[in-house]
Amino acid sequence: MKRIKIRELLHTEPVGKTATVKGWVRTFRNNQFVALNDGSCLDNLQLVLPLGEFEDKVLRSINPGAAISATGEVAESRGRGQKIELVVSDVKVVGESDPEKYPLQPKKHSLEFLREQAHLRFRTNTFGAIFRIRHAAALAIHRFFDERGFVYLHTPILTASDAEGAGELFRVTTLNPQHPPLTEENEVDFSKDFFGKEAHLTVSGQLEAELGSLALSDVYTFGPTFRAEHSHTTRHLAEFWMIEPEIAFADLEDNMDLAEDMLNYLVKYLLENCRKDLEFLDDRLKKEESSKTKDQRSPMGLTEKLEFCLESDFARITYSDAIDILMKSKPNKKKKFQYVIEEWGADLQSEHERYLVEKHFKKPVILYNYPKNIKAFYMRVNDDEKTVAAMDILFPGIGEIIGGSQREERLDVLLSRMDEMHIPQEELSWYLDIRKYGSCPHAGYGLGFERFVQFVTGMGNIRDVIPFPRTPGHIAF
Ligand code: ATP
Ligand code: MN
Repeated sequence: MKRIKIRELLHTEPVGKTATVKGWVRTFRNNQFVALNDGSCLDNLQLVLPLGEFEDKVLRSINPGAAISATGEVAESRGRGQKIELVVSDVKVVGESDPEKYPLQPKKHSLEFLREQAHLRFRTNTFGAIFRIRHAAALAIHRFFDERGFVYLHTPILTASDAEGAGELFRVTTLNPQHPPLTEENEVDFSKDFFGKEAHLTVSGQLEAELGSLALSDVYTFGPTFRAEHSHTTRHLAEFWMIEPEIAFADLEDNMDLAEDMLNYLVKYLLENCRKDLEFLDDRLKKEESSKTKDQRSPMGLTEKLEFCLESDFARITYSDAIDILMKSKPNKKKKFQYVIEEWGADLQSEHERYLVEKHFKKPVILYNYPKNIKAFYMRVNDDEKTVAAMDILFPGIGEIIGGSQREERLDVLLSRMDEMHIPQEELSWYLDIRKYGSCPHAGYGLGFERFVQFVTGMGNIRDVIPFPRTPGHIAF
């Protein structure tokens, strides 16, 4: 008989019909009741094994973690908490699981413990919910851009360019590390390497997306990104996924509008399509919060926070206005910030960003027009010649979720910026070409996918929203 997924069964409630389900045992009570989960939804299906109908040998191998297949009649449930159950006539243990050794015991495990069991943590309610939401968010991103006529452009993962000249690159090579070929100057001779030159993993698909945008008008990338940064924070990974739209004939304001529309669309989609998983995570957070002191608790629950986010427009303020607010703020005057803001031009730290979002505005904030000295070469220089048309979107609890800008489309200005920043022209001739042939105002941004998933799931640590996190010193699985 063809298997039906538990999600569909609970949805259609075919009482009186015969059905086959397959999944993994969560618990087995009184030699009679199996809680079965197949990952299709948060809910387990209760299987009822009538007493005396099954061999002891079979019953003894129905243990937590075991894979089973069960056929029976769908019946209205007499138990509380579920509408239907399956009264089983035939059960097969497909894959056994030794209850003495199975790492996931039917009790609450810490997130740290589950990170070490990342190969099994998908089987918990929390991680089942997180990865279903992550899937839905990815789908919604494609839908959002598709509905607006964007082309999904697959930019390369292996690159010869360093988009921002920022370093923090992972090198890719096939040279023998013990005996690499050397040049006359006794340096590693990368002309003998696989590509005939140095190669790295991409830190951003932006520059390539710009090329696509100046022909296809609106494009986006959605792919893995790699940064060898030694940031030991709850918001940084060495491998993360980024969404990077790039829009032609557009300025910074169009860019902000697109970003705000996108974030609203995604949150709305998830509230509509992942309600049960979100509510589960909401409850989980509430329990976690109850062990905190009153002033450490967040004022809103998870779904409440998401709905609030939909209702309120994001605050849009310039970097200069933000500096004013920060210089006048209590924590700055009382030197409570680790980095006290002394003057215009200072780079904002996450403590400042969080103050603006969580204390001052109490809603998402778009900061724009940053000093050009602290930003990348490709950002468009404003008429004041001091600032560039850059924007960061800051979210409560997360900090920066999006970074973007209007790009410098004027060849002469771009060249002098590259000069100032010692970026060799030869390496980027292709990038400069699009400023020579039909250049036009264009803009784009990067959304860190895991930061967004953190926001919607309320998870405090970015390692818990990607299946197999890579961070400095950690590359298990
Ligand atoms: P941060 O200051 O938080 O390190 P950034 O300024 O380096 O961020 P960008 O280079 O603008 O970030 O990248 C665009 C987006 O990608 C960021 O807004 C963020 O959402 C995400 N992002 C950046 N670095 C990481 C990382 N190491 N891990 C996960 N997401 C990241
Ligand atoms: Mn960074």
